[in-house]
Amino acid sequence: MKLLLLAPPGAGKGTQGERLAARYGVQHIAAGDLLRAEAQAGTGAGRDIAAYQARGDLVPDQIVLDALTPAVVEAAEGGGYILDGFPRTLPQASAAAELAARLGVALDVVVYLYAPEEVLTRRLLDRASQAGRADDVADVIRHRHRVFAETTGPLVDYYTERGILVAVDADQPPDSVTADIQARLELLPFLAN
Ligand code: AMP
Repeated sequence: MKLLLLAPPGAGKGTQGERLAARYGVQHIAAGDLLRAEAQAGTGAGRDIAAYQARGDLVPDQIVLDALTPAVVEAAEGGGYILDGFPRTLPQASAAAELAARLGVALDVVVYLYAPEEVLTRRLLDRASQAGRADDVADVIRHRHRVFAETTGPLVDYYTERGILVAVDADQPPDSVTADIQARLELLPFLAN
């Protein structure tokens, strides 16, 4: 199983990613978590990453590719992955597709989680009181949604054109979202075999 979760901030890709990884016995690779870990390591690159994350801007593609590629290759060789939050730009998607083609480990499916922005914002503000993420404050949340619409949104068309996109309504309780995703995945030929 090689699956990408494509979703705006607050749609639940972390929660769904963990569940899908456990269900299908593959690694969950959360781009934001990996980049946050690198930021906390306090290296030169880490300080740059922390600044982008704090503003709600995307980290530059080359830094992301350097940080994520080894984990993705290792997981692919080990049987698959649930990618959560990478690729997030068209150049990242092209670079990932080229690498995957070279290694013979192309994505099987992209699950796009969608929900109205006001629902997502409310969830993130609720999460702020528990997780304490520095980027879960109202103006940064607004900016992250704008970045998603402008820069990540085009990936919905990109993967639709490639025939591998499944769209799931994320404005439901987490268990219902998980059930919907699994029901849709079970219709796919590569899982039926
Ligand atoms: P997330 O944990 O997925 O909400 O990501 C948190 C932050 O990490 C984002 O706002 C970006 O600053 C950064 N980030 C995560 N994934 C990517 C990516 N694929 N490309 C660029 N920046 C990313």
